[in-house]
Amino acid sequence: MNRPAPVPTELSRPFWEAARRGELVVPQCPACGLRFFAPEPACPGCLSREWRYAPSAGRGTVYSVTVVHRAPGPGFDAPFALAVVDLDDGGTLLTHVDAGDPDHVLIGLRVRVDFRALTDEITLPYFVPES
Ligand SMILES: [Zn+2]
Repeated sequence: MNRPAPVPTELSRPFWEAARRGELVVPQCPACGLRFFAPEPACPGCLSREWRYAPSAGRGTVYSVTVVHRAPGPGFDAPFALAVVDLDDGGTLLTHVDAGDPDHVLIGLRVRVDFRALTDEITLPYFVPES
């Protein structure tokens, strides 16, 4: 699928650097233990600014899904499935899920991360059905 490349920010740069290495990381707060996404300046659970990225095995379950039929901007291929995935090791991700046909992405579907290089700089963590 084509889409415009995300532009890393100071907060998200470690996420994109890890994805380029084929690793999934999510913000985790050592003060309250919360894993959250997207990265924010402060933990949404306790407002600590001391959160760090923690590794995830990249397996989970589709919590909710929508099929986007109208491209949100130039450069997107539509339709595509956009889902909230509950990660087995904690936290959730808003992410693309590629099951071939977007209508095949259903709540409860088991998925795993699948890294796909979009540009030389950006590798996107997609999710695909667990095999
Ligand atoms: Zn916290």
